[in-house]
Amino acid sequence: MALWITEECINCDVCEPECPNEAISLGEVIYEIDPHKCTECVGHFDEPQCVQVCPVACIPVNPAFVESKDLLRAKYLRLHPGSADASSAAAVSSTG
Ligand code: SF4
Ligand code: SF4
Repeated sequence: MALWITEECINCDVCEPECPNEAISLGEVIYEIDPHKCTECVGHFDEPQCVQVCPVACIPVNPAFVESKDLLRAKYLRLHPGSADASSAAAVSSTG
């Protein structure tokens, strides 16, 4: 799943620079996560980095974007075609 930021966000700006996919940005009111970029940090870290640093624990999983680890990995490969696993990226992304 991608993660999302709830209205409890206090706009502290701690999470944004921690995201390896540049999925976090300041929205109209609070920070937001682009679900098409968030991989739950799969491919980069064992744990979601934004969740690790958020002082108010306002970043749950996004129930609208339920994804398996394989799908998250495929998303990671699409976002980072130059990664070590790039050779398999084409095959993965061509299947959706
Ligand atoms: Fe970015 Fe990782 Fe948080 Fe997703 S879980 S928004 S990829 S830091
Ligand atoms: Fe909002 Fe948490 Fe990110 Fe701070 S770390 S901007 S409170 S989501």
